[in-house]
Amino acid sequence: MRRVSVFGATGSIGQSTLDLIGRAPEAYHVVALTGGRNVKNLAEDARRLNAEIAVTGYDACLPALKEALAGSGIEAAAGEQALLEAADRPTDWTMSAIFGAAGLAPGLRSLRHGGTLALANKESLVTAGPLLLSEAAKHGAKVLPVDSEHSAVFQALVGEDIAHVERVIITASGGALRSWPKEKLATATVADASAHPNWDMGQRITIDSASMFNKAMELIEAKEFFGFRPDQIEVLVHPQSLVHALVGFNDGALMAHVGPSDMRHAIGYALNWPERAHLPVERLDLAKIGQLDFSAPDFERWPALTLAHHVMERGGLSGTIFNAAKETALDLFIAGEIGFQDMARLVERVLQKFWAEEPSATNGHNNAVIPLENTLEYDQIARIRAREI
Ligand code: NDP
Ligand code: MG
Repeated sequence: MRRVSVFGATGSIGQSTLDLIGRAPEAYHVVALTGGRNVKNLAEDARRLNAEIAVTGYDACLPALKEALAGSGIEAAAGEQALLEAADRPTDWTMSAIFGAAGLAPGLRSLRHGGTLALANKESLVTAGPLLLSEAAKHGAKVLPVDSEHSAVFQALVGEDIAHVERVIITASGGALRSWPKEKLATATVADASAHPNWDMGQRITIDSASMFNKAMELIEAKEFFGFRPDQIEVLVHPQSLVHALVGFNDGALMAHVGPSDMRHAIGYALNWPERAHLPVERLDLAKIGQLDFSAPDFERWPALTLAHHVMERGGLSGTIFNAAKETALDLFIAGEIGFQDMARLVERVLQKFWAEEPSATNGHNNAVIPLENTLEYDQIARIRAREI
């Protein structure tokens, strides 16, 4: 039996992961499941999958979790420290799918016992890519991408020499507001930005798709994970979301990964790697689909993409600041305090402030490993600066 833990089990990625694990309960021993406020679901899943321990990220949710697990023999715990302790329990495979920078520390910790970390939490790479990968190398742990585009690139690279890669193209659907006239974007509401045409995802990442911050994060994620140069990574708008990424080689070949818009494909690939196994996802009928469309991204419409390029070129703690400012801007947009286009303006102003005032922390240290404490400190300061601005 493979020992598995799922961090962020109550979320969109977490639920898709449990769907796959729950189809073959004889193959898995579930160690830890973690969630946030949704303790009812967390307890139900922990009972159904017979987990060792269920952890909520919030102390205030512990009484409800204990009550929901009463009589089950399953341990209950709460808080950041409990998440780290859950990550200390050895597993063969761990899913990192907590949303945001909160997912960084538990994912990092789980690398200590070796095993495989399936990384949906892109914030970990954007915030602390060199740290995460060096920890993995130090402990002989394997990190596998779960973000669909990065899983696609990873699959296209199987058996290839990375030195033969000229460029990598990750696709973007364009999100809920792709066909809106640019002049109207300033008026977009949370509801407008939350209606994704193809993917069924959590609300925050859906809004990040509409603003292209999700793709901006993914550019940085690709640079950090695969080690490509910023000028090798491109974005291509592809409204159908069926081609997830393309890898261009030095002989002119482009290897495209085509698959359904269902995260269970990328999750299942990481779960079964290095094998492939049957997955319960749709089989595409390309004759019926008929047409796939591609276009260049409009950098004026989506300033987040330009910001990501600046962040990649700067390095240092720029990714940490970018992510923290983005998360704060998103909170403010969801709370109705700033407009849709203010998110990118705010992130840009926070970055510029740090670049002007702390050039050494945010420049010239490309790929240097920055300790977790410094990373979390800058994450917090960037959130405060964003709110001040
Ligand atoms: P959701 O918002 O659906 O789920 C997030 C999960 O994290 C929930 O289990 C939530 O608990 C938990 N959580 C949130 N905050 C905290 C916290 N402070 N402490 C502990 N747990 C917390 O997110 P998604 O599943 O959409 O995304 C998860 C990650 O995967 C993100 O990094 C995202 O970028 C990435 N990703 C997602 C994709 C998708 O299709 N959804 C695609 C590619 C990447 P609760 O709900 O119980 O409060
Ligand atoms: Mg993605």
